[in-house]
Amino acid sequence: MSRFLSSEFKGLEPYVPGEQPKTSGLIKLNTNENPYGPSPKVLEAIHQEQVSKLMLYPDPECGELIEAISEYYGIERDQVMVGNGSDEILAFCFMAFQNEKRKIWFPEPSYGFYKVYGDVFHAERNLVPLTEDLRVDPKKYKNLDGTIIIANPNAPTGIALNLQEIEDILKSNESNLVIIDEAYIDFGAKSCVPFLQKYDNLLVVQTFSKSRSLAGSRVGFAMGSREVIADLNAIKFSFNPYNLNRLSILAAAAAMRDDDYFQKTRQSIIRTRERFSQELKAIGFHVLPSSANFVFAESDRLSGQEYFTGLREKNILVRHFEKDPVSNFVRITIGRDEDMDLLLTATKELLERTAK
Ligand code: PMP
Repeated sequence: MSRFLSSEFKGLEPYVPGEQPKTSGLIKLNTNENPYGPSPKVLEAIHQEQVSKLMLYPDPECGELIEAISEYYGIERDQVMVGNGSDEILAFCFMAFQNEKRKIWFPEPSYGFYKVYGDVFHAERNLVPLTEDLRVDPKKYKNLDGTIIIANPNAPTGIALNLQEIEDILKSNESNLVIIDEAYIDFGAKSCVPFLQKYDNLLVVQTFSKSRSLAGSRVGFAMGSREVIADLNAIKFSFNPYNLNRLSILAAAAAMRDDDYFQKTRQSIIRTRERFSQELKAIGFHVLPSSANFVFAESDRLSGQEYFTGLREKNILVRHFEKDPVSNFVRITIGRDEDMDLLLTATKELLERTAK
């Protein structure tokens, strides 16, 4: 820490992203990336002519991408805004709607960035524990006194709320903004975007990083009422008007328009997840019911730390969170079938080792 750091950031605990290994030859199942490459339409969109225009600033309105998203979801263009990953959208939400006087409620454990943004932007954080079986308890979000943010499906558990549960939260919090972070929505849960017609206190945040295979492009988006989107744009234009680069705008618009590829790849991931979950259960693991592109699993024969380390020694990277109540679990991204088979073989070897 330098002596110049603002005093308010002296105790800041930054978010720790999953490891991005520099060496090749690892099976990388630790950051919920999509094992399938971007749509071929993305590769067509980023051709040489576009690269040769990189001396020009991008469109600060990101018009082409906003149009692709609004057409896909059947909402108005002024109900959509885009960001440099949904992380940036979430940061804009904290900047726009939170301060030390307004509470923000969210589940714990959930996406680790909510806590960090709470600290950076001086929000009064209220962490709501999960139930004993690691579910978000919708009853605990009724008639609250501040903003609510819920990842649906939740991370790192993968368990989703249903639409009725979300609607009840929206109804009982008319004077609060309810942010539903749908980063993993395309892998099995139902999006609450249709509720935008009825509830102006809803903001839905999604990303191109998971189901649309563009984590490296850094594109996320928010959908909400015109007024809430205008607030977020006011923040964006006061902070970083060119928040998406030229190539990312083109890549994301092309990905949004290629529904065939999107459907094919997300269905493959869902199929692999279901098979893999069954096989892990068959060897004695407790696997939470996932609606995401990862599973959260534990064994009573290996601690979370032992399983994580054992797989790492076999060149397979998964994610382990040290804090309770989830320290015995590991989070495993769903890769290609062959990756999951290698992980299952490695797991069986580790279990055999413990039996000796
Ligand atoms: N929300 C949740 C629940 C996530 O797990 C992630 C990814 N780690 C994000 C948001 C952010 O994703 P991105 O910035 O890549 O859009």
